[in-house]
Amino acid sequence: MIIRAFMFSLAAATITIAADNSLRLHLRSRAPAAQGVESVSEQPATWDPKRTTLIICDMWDDHWCKSASRRVAEMAGPLNEVVKLARDRGVFIIHAPSSVTAFYKDTPQRRRAQAAAFVKTPVPLALSERWGTAWCWTDPKREAVLPIDDSDMGCSCAGEKCAIREAWTRQIATIEMAAEDALTDNGQETWNLLAERGITNVILAGVHLNMCVLGRPFAIRQQVYLGKNVALLRDLTDTMYNPERPPGVDHCTGTELVIAHVERHWCPSFTSADITGKPAFRFKEDRRAAHDRTSAPSP
Ligand SMILES: [Zn+2]
Repeated sequence: MIIRAFMFSLAAATITIAADNSLRLHLRSRAPAAQGVESVSEQPATWDPKRTTLIICDMWDDHWCKSASRRVAEMAGPLNEVVKLARDRGVFIIHAPSSVTAFYKDTPQRRRAQAAAFVKTPVPLALSERWGTAWCWTDPKREAVLPIDDSDMGCSCAGEKCAIREAWTRQIATIEMAAEDALTDNGQETWNLLAERGITNVILAGVHLNMCVLGRPFAIRQQVYLGKNVALLRDLTDTMYNPERPPGVDHCTGTELVIAHVERHWCPSFTSADITGKPAFRFKEDRRAAHDRTSAPSP
């Protein structure tokens, strides 16, 4: 009798887990605390996948910087795994390879974005332009200057620096597109797609955090201005940062500094472990100790 009762409860528990597709995230954010010390906190959050989008920013097939291109290729596989799991749970996937959407002309994903009915935004969308799309610039009312100097555009290669050129033609093929996904690099189209589905939660992944993941018209600054619940998938991003420029830290620490900047001024972050149940992604070149990777130093 006892065994039978146990087996019954086990079966019921299994059914409960399988039926609940909710995303259980650990959202990390930062706030000023006493004596200039910063408090880093992690809040549990449960997000309804049907009200959530995962936007993949600028994961192009190539890049003018060889190191940047190598890191995108390295993280594309793990990102694709997260995309598949999120999609299976009902998250709406938007591929956002900026300035190369013409490559996807007439695909169902591109057409879906273009066909979504126009819905007026609660605040005007960014109008200034940079690198082929509208752009949300650094906002002095809301954020400090970026903690890394990317004024040289951030080639992180040792020795000879890469020449800037038009290198990308499409999204990296490693990231699969499903029939139900959408593809756009446009702020209004993104807003229309989200309005159509009643989506209020926006997850940003991809590159580069100090530039496009903050500034593009579908990305962090614009989504925060539009009132969405925004979160950064912090292990599946990268920066353009040359360690020879201030503050003179290694490339991965530079990325951690920008993640901390985002957590301080824009939105919380979480890792892919919350979706995969596996350890967070880590670049091969990141040889820092685990404790150095979990809490970035203050700038
Ligand atoms: Zn380079």
